[in-house]
Amino acid sequence: MIYKWDIIGHETQISQLEREIETGNISHAYLFSGPKDVGKFRVARIFANILQCPHDFCRRCKDCQMIANGTHLDTLLVPDDGSTIHIDEVRELIRKTNLTAQSRYRLIVIENIERMPIEAQNSFLKTLEEPPGRTVFLLTSTKVSQVLPTILSRVRLYEFSNVDDPVLETYLRQKFGDHTDLSEIIEIAQGRPGLAIHLIKDPVALSDQRNVYRQIDFFLKKNDLAQKFQFVESVSKGEGATGKTLELFFDAFSRYLRKLLFDYMRQKDHPLRARFTLKEIADLFESLEKTRYLIDRNVNLKLALENLFLQTEK
Ligand SMILES: [Zn+2]
Repeated sequence: MIYKWDIIGHETQISQLEREIETGNISHAYLFSGPKDVGKFRVARIFANILQCPHDFCRRCKDCQMIANGTHLDTLLVPDDGSTIHIDEVRELIRKTNLTAQSRYRLIVIENIERMPIEAQNSFLKTLEEPPGRTVFLLTSTKVSQVLPTILSRVRLYEFSNVDDPVLETYLRQKFGDHTDLSEIIEIAQGRPGLAIHLIKDPVALSDQRNVYRQIDFFLKKNDLAQKFQFVESVSKGEGATGKTLELFFDAFSRYLRKLLFDYMRQKDHPLRARFTLKEIADLFESLEKTRYLIDRNVNLKLALENLFLQTEK
């Protein structure tokens, strides 16, 4: 590696980006797609910094310092704050960089481009077709299926995947020493460095994860439809926090089932073996993924979850 990226994993993608920098083969738009919390936005930010720094990513010059503290006029960062991205905002970003543009590039780094509604994506397409001079868009997405194919065809696509556990573990040990909950955190994080670091730094988030995991364990071990439906009721009624609660729930459920499948296949003893066959667990896993997909597409949340829970009863 030529530059010090300080990124966990993704060596192939980083080497490829470095080759593009070395050969000056920079596209006017990139899309980094892949699971949440694996480091796509971070890679985009550092890539932006390397492009802007006139001294090989020195981390000391004016450009590097301004990018680090988010005040660089030609490097605009739009992290995902949960809000929808309107086309006017994108136009405003372009206008802002047009005003200054004293740096090597005008860089617009947008996290989770799928936050742009389809009409906005259509308008954005025109900008991608005729980008203002030296403008580079660095976009990320965790749901590339919600991005217009016409946009995908105009960006240089980089796919990111989860980081291997040993890579993650080595890095976390170096950075945080022997944290007591490290193996549990690595298991929860499932190859997502962003989540692992968040859990190390925030004990409340870790305990939330544990609680959901325990709840799922209980739901799978017991026949108690009333309690399961009560859970569904509370999730589907919850307002602001619904998205987060659901994400936590689906992540934990998926992790639980994946581990269970793995244990079954390795013939490991498991208390659930008497209750579910391997096929039933595999079916449940498939239903879980399907439910998640449907909920993303706004089907009736309550019905979808109730159907899923019916499969956990015997
Ligand atoms: Zn610099």
